[in-house]
Amino acid sequence: MKKEKGQLIVLSGPSGVGKSTVIAELFGQRENIYFSVSYTTRQPRVGEQDGVNYNFVVREEFERMIAADELLEYAEYVNNYYGTSLKAIQDKLNAGVDVLLDIEVQGAAKVRARCPDALFIFIIPPSFEELSRRLHRRNTDSEDVIAGRLEKAKIEFKEIPSYDYLVINDKVSGAVAEIEAILKAAECRVENRKSILAQFA
Ligand code: 5GP
Repeated sequence: MKKEKGQLIVLSGPSGVGKSTVIAELFGQRENIYFSVSYTTRQPRVGEQDGVNYNFVVREEFERMIAADELLEYAEYVNNYYGTSLKAIQDKLNAGVDVLLDIEVQGAAKVRARCPDALFIFIIPPSFEELSRRLHRRNTDSEDVIAGRLEKAKIEFKEIPSYDYLVINDKVSGAVAEIEAILKAAECRVENRKSILAQFA
């Protein structure tokens, strides 16, 4: 059944936890869900495509978007800007499509203030050592950048209590199943079933 309004879903988790893989798998098995392609000033990694993984822009363009109030939220993360286009997600939500934001904790806090009905999910690896192993295995960042990302992860973990759900990405299929369960529970909320309820009034 088509929803009147889409569900905004915020997914955060440290760089290297495997969010992209989990998201790809989730999107492979769900319909009516849109991935918000963020804007960033960071350089594309090998295999990343402009307009698919991110919209890659220069700093001046990002700062223009901030000044023009075109972003729902933005943050600076390991010396680069990352932000969410407001218009793109509003159009989808109004069309009844769920929207997933893959954003870090400062951005998530801004979304929490502006969109209290959003679902906030934090995804962690099974251990800190495993996070380090995954960042090294990815083989895309220098040792300095990896160290910065691990330090950042420790700061991010402190924000977990302000999220609604904690998903553990030991196996991708397990993490996806947990997210599916969260989304199903949200769909069953009374406030999300108002249109069905009307006939019982
Ligand atoms: P990466 O460089 O590894 O792709 O992403 C670094 C961090 O930026 C990740 O934690 C990711 O969730 C976050 N991120 C990606 N897009 C956005 C965005 O639009 N806004 C914010 N606040 N964070 C983002």
